[in-house]
Amino acid sequence: MIPKQGLGPLPPIGYNPSMRALTREFLDRMPKVELHVHLEGAVPRPALDELARKYGRPPFTALLDRTPQPGRRTRPRKKAAGEYRQGRPSFADFVDVWLRIGDHLREYEDYAFAARALAAEFERQNILYAEVLFSPARDSTAHLQPDRIAEAVAAGFSEGPAAALVRDSNTRPSAAELDPQAKPGAPAAALTRDLNARLSTAEKDPRKITGAPTAVRLIADFVRDNGPREAGRTLDALLAMNDRLIAGIGIGGSEAPFPPAPFAPVFEKARAAGLRTQAHAGESDGPESVWKSIRELRVDRIAHGVRAREDAALMAYLKQSGLPLDICPTSNIRTGAVESIADHPAADFLRRGLKVSLSTDDPTLFGSDLAGEFDLLVRTFGLSEDKVRTLLLNAVDAAWCGPEEKMRLRDAIEAFFGPD
Ligand SMILES: [Zn+2]
Repeated sequence: MIPKQGLGPLPPIGYNPSMRALTREFLDRMPKVELHVHLEGAVPRPALDELARKYGRPPFTALLDRTPQPGRRTRPRKKAAGEYRQGRPSFADFVDVWLRIGDHLREYEDYAFAARALAAEFERQNILYAEVLFSPARDSTAHLQPDRIAEAVAAGFSEGPAAALVRDSNTRPSAAELDPQAKPGAPAAALTRDLNARLSTAEKDPRKITGAPTAVRLIADFVRDNGPREAGRTLDALLAMNDRLIAGIGIGGSEAPFPPAPFAPVFEKARAAGLRTQAHAGESDGPESVWKSIRELRVDRIAHGVRAREDAALMAYLKQSGLPLDICPTSNIRTGAVESIADHPAADFLRRGLKVSLSTDDPTLFGSDLAGEFDLLVRTFGLSEDKVRTLLLNAVDAAWCGPEEKMRLRDAIEAFFGPD
């Protein structure tokens, strides 16, 4: 028998018993689940450039690639459209660019186009299941109806991969195809009926929710800055349409100036209608914001929550309750919520047994993808294969889909990793 001291110190979190290299190629091939990705921040760059061309704006690709001078601070409103400063970003900078991208989603067909392009991107990344947030009510969409935005997004995801669409904008659906009222003689509810038919199929096989290789569910994300009245109006419109299009709701936007309490009645109404709920919290504001989301909104999930580490009682609560956190490391660094990847708490949260999963948040803004988020943690913290699998299975546990879909996802993940 080997004496205990002969084993040396406990292995770090990076101990990898299988010794299988967690290369980027391995992480790319790995089946993945994404719970926190905003349509507005995830439109693939070629599709974003198509939209910029449509509206006579400069291409986004060049603007997103521009690396400003480190340390040179500029007022967000004076920056060029799409410019994202990589030096010392602030959350306000991020919101500014996010809204500028959102300005390019002005018509229903733009939403469908963006969703179709994102479906192709999900497939490329081996993402089996995704919950996509979209913000149906912003200043730039005041002329659009939230329910019809939701229908357009769902239609885009329903129609599958969009590689061809990205290459040739002429194949985009016409406004008439997406807007029944703009098509003389077309039944107003035709699009809704079509989606309902697809959703009925989805109940038998959740993967067919979209008809695309990646099963997608939608989360309506209300911008805190626009207040609870607008959130309530938007929710009413979505519920009147067809609540099965939407898996849940959430709040995002400016966290500290717009606390959650005023949104409580909106969340209560959503819950009563069978929707799940989440809140961006503990990102740009401290742990009290997470507590408020738990106590006042009774959320099913916390988006980010990285600043929970500042409160031992909250950390204990998160562990004991198993309340899931969807964590987006690159986003946290780029928005300034966390100083650097070495300072990121994701691996520590995981080691402490919190229900953590990884997501990208706004991958186009941040130049990231889901395998890249895993890669960051593997390279920085030496995350083991077992922990990578735990992150994936945590995402399945936290997903807002039925038991059959969860079984399908777990089976795919376990088949990939093989027996212990
Ligand atoms: Zn987010």
